[in-house]
Amino acid sequence: MDRRSVLKLLATTPMAVLAGSWFARPAFAKGEKTVEDLQKNWKTLLADGADVASDTEPVKLSNEEWKKRLPPQAYDVLRKEGTERAGSSPLDREKRPGVFACAGCGLPLFTSAMKFDSGTGWPSFFTIIPGAIGTSRDFKLIFPRTEYHCARCEGHQGHLFDDGPEPTGLRYCNNGVALRFIPKTG
Ligand SMILES: [Zn+2]
Repeated sequence: MDRRSVLKLLATTPMAVLAGSWFARPAFAKGEKTVEDLQKNWKTLLADGADVASDTEPVKLSNEEWKKRLPPQAYDVLRKEGTERAGSSPLDREKRPGVFACAGCGLPLFTSAMKFDSGTGWPSFFTIIPGAIGTSRDFKLIFPRTEYHCARCEGHQGHLFDDGPEPTGLRYCNNGVALRFIPKTG
């Protein structure tokens, strides 16, 4: 390949492909399951008799009540929109089959089949259990970000980015301390 064709190749290769290839790889093999299947069949990953909320009936507690109910770190994230230190949550490395529920109210938010290794140090997911998440915009880092929270107790979970893997291209960057993992047993 001469110099001219190298330049031509570089000019025609989108930079996003070069820069984003480690994020953009598919989270599961093509044709294996669709995102809709993962969403529809999420209960197949729920352990029998798991203690989770079965509906999105709102949970409204005062700050004082939340403070009593939650460990300090979980309170800071869920009720004060804090962010845990990257790499601090064992759930970032959790790979067993199961369900990730809100640590505040027990509403199932994600399954292990929706998780991927983003390399960021925070548990990351490319889709959600339908109806489990609400979003809002925040400007805490000057530029606008999409904040997301549990649809039942409105506890802050993390931020949503559009640099996730195929097929959704979404990255739900979650605080591990805001989640409770329920492994599927048997
Ligand atoms: Zn909740």
